[in-house]
Order: sequence, then structure tokens, then C-alpha cells
Amino acid sequence: MRSCDSCSDPAVKVALSGGTRQVHLCYRHAVEEALLDAPLDEIRTISENAGYPVNGIMFMFEAVARAERIAGVSDISWAVIRSARERFDTSSRYVLRNWGIITRVDIGKIFLALVEAGLVAAVPGAGLNDFDTQFTLGDVLDAP
Ligand SMILES: [Zn+2]
Repeated sequence: MRSCDSCSDPAVKVALSGGTRQVHLCYRHAVEEALLDAPLDEIRTISENAGYPVNGIMFMFEAVARAERIAGVSDISWAVIRSARERFDTSSRYVLRNWGIITRVDIGKIFLALVEAGLVAAVPGAGLNDFDTQFTLGDVLDAP
């Protein structure tokens, strides 16, 4: 897994700088370079209020946006797990843990903050208590 050239977070975007040199960028720096479209100001506000890093929230935003169908808490969790595996493969557990996304409750907190900010649609029956489970994401991410 490559790290962002501007910070130490995982890179999610490769671009050419000066036409020749490859640069690797995380979500936040890719948006700042206009290589990725995301509502950075709103996500910064969520980050300050919810206490998760900007890149973790952008990852969640992307995971939900890419999901085919979100009808309940398990769809949201699976969207996050699927997206993590696609983006970060075997480093998923490490990356999410570094962002403080460790349990489903963390997913719920960020998801509900995105809903509150109007960035994703609300899902009936997906209140914070509905995300509560004993399983950590690591258990699921490490499973084959
Ligand atoms: Zn970066």
C-alpha cells in the first residue's frame, strides 16, 4: 500500500505531476488538488464534531456512495468492509484502526454525521444503537 506524498495516510489516487512524475495522494490531498470530488468543507466540519480524521470520513462517504443498495445497518457495514478491501486490501484493518474506525459503532457515528450534514440519505432503522455489536471490524476484515 502506497502512502500519500503529502501526508502519511494511505494513497487512493495516482496523478502525474509536471507531466512525468507520479504522485500518490490520500482522499484529502486528492480533493485539494481537484483530482477527486467531495464536499471537503462539510467533511471537515464533521471531522471536528465527530472526532474522526477527514480521510476516515471521506472513506466512509465514498463507501456509502459506491454501494448499490443501502437498506439497513448491515448494508452500511458491508459497504464499508467491501470498500476497505478494494482500497486497502490486506492493510484494511490497519488503515481503519488508524482512523479510529474500529467497531460498527464507529461506522454508525460517522454514517449518522454524514446523514445529519445532508451528504448521504437517511436509512430507516439505522440509529446509533442499531450499529451496536460485539464484533470489531478487524474480526470481519481478517476473515477470508
Ligand atoms: Zn495526504
